[in-house]
Amino acid sequence: MSRFPFILPFYHAVSDEDSLHLKHLFHVKSIKDFTADVEFMSKRYKFVDLTEFYNHAKTSFKNIVKPIAHLSFDDGLRECYDVIMPILIEKGIPATFFINSGFAGNKEMLFRFKASILKEYLKSDFGAHNIDHKYKSLMQMDYSDDHLLEKIAFDLGISFKDYLIRVQPYMNWEQIKELQKNGFTIGSHSIDHPEFRKIALNSSVRQIKESFDRIVNHIDIKIRAFSFPFTDSGLSVDVFDEIFNSKLVDITFGTAGLKNDVIPMNFQRIPMEWNYKANEILNYYKAKSIARSILRRNIINR
Ligand SMILES: [Zn+2]
Repeated sequence: MSRFPFILPFYHAVSDEDSLHLKHLFHVKSIKDFTADVEFMSKRYKFVDLTEFYNHAKTSFKNIVKPIAHLSFDDGLRECYDVIMPILIEKGIPATFFINSGFAGNKEMLFRFKASILKEYLKSDFGAHNIDHKYKSLMQMDYSDDHLLEKIAFDLGISFKDYLIRVQPYMNWEQIKELQKNGFTIGSHSIDHPEFRKIALNSSVRQIKESFDRIVNHIDIKIRAFSFPFTDSGLSVDVFDEIFNSKLVDITFGTAGLKNDVIPMNFQRIPMEWNYKANEILNYYKAKSIARSILRRNIINR
């Protein structure tokens, strides 16, 4: 069997248009580049749906003949419905979409999106070299700094509410239901995207429980799949014990690339939003993983 019996590539959006809330965060792939990525991966891997991945995970990937891949998308962005769904349907590729229950329907938005919008606004206002000096901390702001981003926006006369209405960065529940009707799975990505290592255990539990409660109000889910916002790095065994033992989750996902984890049903995914082709990104993560394995450092101990 291959050294890598499975890969878990993940994205947020695919678009041929610039969007202010994403442009300073990661490289959004064009339709052409994303299509090339999935075509490449289809040749090397068998794309499976979440149920099949889950069943293989439960049997430690023992029955795998050809390496498998499960594709996922974080944050529940509108491009998932508008752009990604039609491509995946056409190619017959299954996927899971991880939703922020507090952002679905464009009620609110991730603080990082606000920072990206402000950065773009300030860049055009003051010129690129000045803002780095003046607002260096903008992109380093944290979940707890949301009020600061709101204050800067207020001072500049920018309304995030207007932006949410005008741009509709997120899917609404009808679109999320439509994804499920087309055979895709829906998972949770928390209520409002905190970094879990920076919040208390009871807040982590609340973020997971309430986001699922909200999702199951709209759709039925068979497997409770959760992807940690930002990263699961630094999370202790206690957090995993709590959420798995209380059956809040059946399977969870991180973003550390090709690493193994001491938590049996927590799996690391590969961030694909770099300005490189899928084969280059996968080769990079494979090389890193092999190097770490030689140094016996490829297992995340918690
Ligand atoms: Zn996210």
